[in-house]
Amino acid sequence: MSGTMMWNALTTGSLIAHAEKYHAGTEIVSVETDGTRARTTWGQVGANARRLKSAMDKLGISEGARCATIAWNNTRHLELYFGIGSGGRVTHTINPRLTPEQMIYIINHAADEILFLDRTFLPVAAKLGAHLKTVKHFVLMGPRDEEAAAQVEDLLFYDELLETGDADTQWPDVDENAPAALCYTSGTTGNPKGVQYTHRSLVLHSIGGNQPDGLNISARDAVMPVVPMFHVNAWGVPYIAAATGSKLVMPGPNLDGESLARLIDAEQVTLSLGVPTIWMGLLAGLEKTGIKPTSMKRTVVGGSALPPSMIREFRDKYGVELIHAWGMTETSPLGTLNQLLEKHRELDADAQARLREGQGRPPWGVDLRIVDEAGQELPRDGETQGELQIRGHWIVDSYFGQDASALTEDGWFDTGDVATLDADGYMVIRDRSKDIIKSGGEWISTVELENIAIAHPKIANAAAIAARHPKWDERPVVIAVPAPGATPTEDEIRASYDGKVASWQVPDRVIFVEDLPLGATGKVLKNKLREAYGEILIDA
Ligand code: ADP
Repeated sequence: MSGTMMWNALTTGSLIAHAEKYHAGTEIVSVETDGTRARTTWGQVGANARRLKSAMDKLGISEGARCATIAWNNTRHLELYFGIGSGGRVTHTINPRLTPEQMIYIINHAADEILFLDRTFLPVAAKLGAHLKTVKHFVLMGPRDEEAAAQVEDLLFYDELLETGDADTQWPDVDENAPAALCYTSGTTGNPKGVQYTHRSLVLHSIGGNQPDGLNISARDAVMPVVPMFHVNAWGVPYIAAATGSKLVMPGPNLDGESLARLIDAEQVTLSLGVPTIWMGLLAGLEKTGIKPTSMKRTVVGGSALPPSMIREFRDKYGVELIHAWGMTETSPLGTLNQLLEKHRELDADAQARLREGQGRPPWGVDLRIVDEAGQELPRDGETQGELQIRGHWIVDSYFGQDASALTEDGWFDTGDVATLDADGYMVIRDRSKDIIKSGGEWISTVELENIAIAHPKIANAAAIAARHPKWDERPVVIAVPAPGATPTEDEIRASYDGKVASWQVPDRVIFVEDLPLGATGKVLKNKLREAYGEILIDA
């Protein structure tokens, strides 16, 4: 053979090895479960992760075993990501906000051999223990703690376990197509489904998602992932940060606006990532504390629709650029990110802002299309809406433990979202197909109705749902949470839709509630709202 290039497997071990070797001194800051702030470095995290791999070998955890974590964003969780996954096993992150039944289901389904947990979740282990058929060891993520030991039989302690590992352990050669991480969808309908990420898909997601028009994280950034490490790998940030050697600021359990505002200020965070509800809290926290987040340049927002008013508030009050992104568990998650193109430079500020309200364009590595109900591709004209489908290097092929393909016959993954695409690939989510309101055969976007309600100064949060209607099949009803101290009337909120949507799209009712039901990933549970209010127009 001549004229060839070196071949190296694309593994997550190569990411952490790079961070340990070339960014050894860069800080990792972690808010612990007791609220204290711990400091370490990529050098230490890399060394501990290798040691953890060895400790798990000695403990008899099988090669390729799924190993579960129920934990906040903190340093030990970061070490586990690599210690488990790069060590030839699979890091199975579990969302602690799932119901006990769902947790039992997924731990048994994944056949996890070991379960690592933060102290907050000790009661979960105590309660679920007997139902978990495959878990051989429970490990508390911290030093020895006699009070905890009394609650769970044979409880192990992370810091002690680490001591048993060999410091000179090296990352094993693993197949790049082998799984390294596992995450279950939140399962708002039916049982949760597992998505297994391979070493290769995680590495390609790190490269593709971190292009300059993507997350654009560098060694000069201090990145704060508020999005949990149990929610699609904190959007890939731990892997990307290792590849780039950025400083990481892990916020631990305190995700209220005030705590985040203080942490951003103290650690000079330059970039943070999270869902819109978190940033609503941060805006309130900044207001309350008077802190100006001067170090913060950018915030990446995704997971549910970003209210346009939030983009303006961050920009005008604090000079922070909000970057809208879209994705899902099945897409690792980065599917689109919103940055402008050179040709948009000449647009006025309003037109630019409107473009940036959408979910953005696919980075290299993923491809999008919209189709009609028969699967026929629809035009990319920015107006026609259809079922959004995706394919690419980091998109699910089949669910964990299921033989059937998760794809269409021609190899695309159907996202369950309804969207428009334009000729440049700018995508706008109009709704989830199961949420969209079908009134007299016409579609009404719940996202649009919610944005208008949330922009009203007397409204803190809102969700639009389809309520059954005797004549039109479905009509929009908005369930709204008043802003603190405000007493909006139904008529005044309905009137605020005038001129913003067609008259037949104005919600029939606005109902005020104290708060909206949230699911395990902080999204509004519209099925719960439909159960409560779906018949309200019939009853009337
Ligand atoms: P689940 O499907 O259980 O809610 P995911 O976290 O995988 O769990 O959620 C993915 C879904 O979240 C997408 O299909 C989409 O409907 C919604 N979503 C994600 N990002 C955005 C966004 N930027 N705007 C609107 N919806 C979004």
